[in-house]
Amino acid sequence: MKKIFFIMIVLLIGFGVFFDKAYTEQNMPNVAWSKPTQIKTYIQPNHKYTEKMKRACHRWSVMTRDGIIFKYENTPANAQLKVVFVEKIPESFHMDSAVGLTRLTYTTGDNQFRNAEIIIADYSQYGKLTDDEVFTSMLHELGHAIGLGHSNNPKSIMYPTTQHVKTMEISKEDLNLLAQKYHWR
Ligand SMILES: [Zn+2]
Repeated sequence: MKKIFFIMIVLLIGFGVFFDKAYTEQNMPNVAWSKPTQIKTYIQPNHKYTEKMKRACHRWSVMTRDGIIFKYENTPANAQLKVVFVEKIPESFHMDSAVGLTRLTYTTGDNQFRNAEIIIADYSQYGKLTDDEVFTSMLHELGHAIGLGHSNNPKSIMYPTTQHVKTMEISKEDLNLLAQKYHWR
């Protein structure tokens, strides 16, 4: 069985122009949160995946030794990061195989994130995702939302395709890239 995590990122740059862009290590802009330990986060409440998404957020905090912390907001109004759940990624994105999507907004002058939105889907074109696949998709999209592009390393959580279904973890490579970005030692 072939599972594809083709993730499309929609970038909103500077003047409010949208670009559709598949992320690679090369074209991922070097953008960071100014306060990565206070990312104001709104997760769609009362959904079967609400708690799972919080566990994915917590996993990033644990793996980065609290270098990344998501602060939950009760309303979307003040949130910098919003997470919503859908059955399938809307066809308007022309991404039949997508299981997750992250839209990033940042300012080009200082390369700082302004906000981000993650969409997590229940189904790919191959059918319903397993719990582990959804969790992997969440970790992957959160990786984009904190500034990581795709990796060519199959062990990276940012690897865009997986041939065989398995639970994927945040890798040392992912953490090293974040350490550089946020100047952790
Ligand atoms: Zn991706």
